[in-house]
Amino acid sequence: MFDPGLRGHQAIRDKLLERLQAGRLPGTLLFTGPEAVGKRRVAMELAQREICFRKTACGACEACRLFKGDDLPVEWPNLLRIAPEGKAGLIKIGAVRDSDLVEGGVIRWASLAPAPGCHRWILVEDAHRLNGGAANMLLKTLEEPPPGTHFLLITHRPEAVLQTIRSRAQRLAFGPLTDAEAWAAASAAGWAESDREAWLALAEGTLRGLDEAAFTRAKAQVEAWIALGAGASFESASGPLVPDKDAAQGQSEQLRGPVDLLLRILADLGRLRAGRTPALAPWGEGLARLAATSLDLRRPMEAVSTAQQSLSRNPSPEPLLRELAMALT
Ligand SMILES: [Zn+2]
Repeated sequence: MFDPGLRGHQAIRDKLLERLQAGRLPGTLLFTGPEAVGKRRVAMELAQREICFRKTACGACEACRLFKGDDLPVEWPNLLRIAPEGKAGLIKIGAVRDSDLVEGGVIRWASLAPAPGCHRWILVEDAHRLNGGAANMLLKTLEEPPPGTHFLLITHRPEAVLQTIRSRAQRLAFGPLTDAEAWAAASAAGWAESDREAWLALAEGTLRGLDEAAFTRAKAQVEAWIALGAGASFESASGPLVPDKDAAQGQSEQLRGPVDLLLRILADLGRLRAGRTPALAPWGEGLARLAATSLDLRRPMEAVSTAQQSLSRNPSPEPLLRELAMALT
């Protein structure tokens, strides 16, 4: 039995385990799929099984407890985590070459003999953020990891992963969770039944709503777009859409949320006009009022598409949001 905290992706987890036990697991794997569906959790489970006292990733023993919580350590006896750092969020060469992450650097760590009954797992989070230098240093090791060492590269933006890396990795595509799987994780984390409908509508098969602040923000953002569409002034309604300058996450990254939500709202207006049920059902009344207006959906659709393209160039947030709000009226 796997860790009860990990839900979904059963086919992928079975396949990984089967290949591992048969000694046929590729040296480098690229886990792709939507953000916050549990890709990292599945990767960690491989390492967790090996050091679990019951060898099952039981989730309850003392060894398994190491793998829980949000402040995960960088190094376990059989696992090393490389994650982006700082606001720019790049994985820099220092993390790979120097001893600032682990004594002697990652490549040396990879070459050490694994503990008995264990492999050496190197987990690279947000692999699309490996910068050129760090990636180049890793290439040779990724191409042919030392015996018993496996690289698990995780990304929700595979197209942004350097081609030299992609070509050396075998890809495993994760899909979204089912509503039942996502809600099982949410209720285990203490979410109340009264939030269920809104939580699932915003989650779209991910676990991003487990972060209460993110859930509250997304809810406020849907309401802000609906208010703007109904003619509220930008000054009075746009508050929840504007990125927080002091947040750890860059402003453009923060803008992706509200821009994607607007796209979902527009899709729902299309659904309502076609007589179908909106996906954001808890906001159905407000959406139905917007759908009943003469708004031509093509204009805001184009504005969203332009905004999405400009996000990689770090646009200034307010003009971008104003442009979108204008296209709604
Ligand atoms: Zn255990």
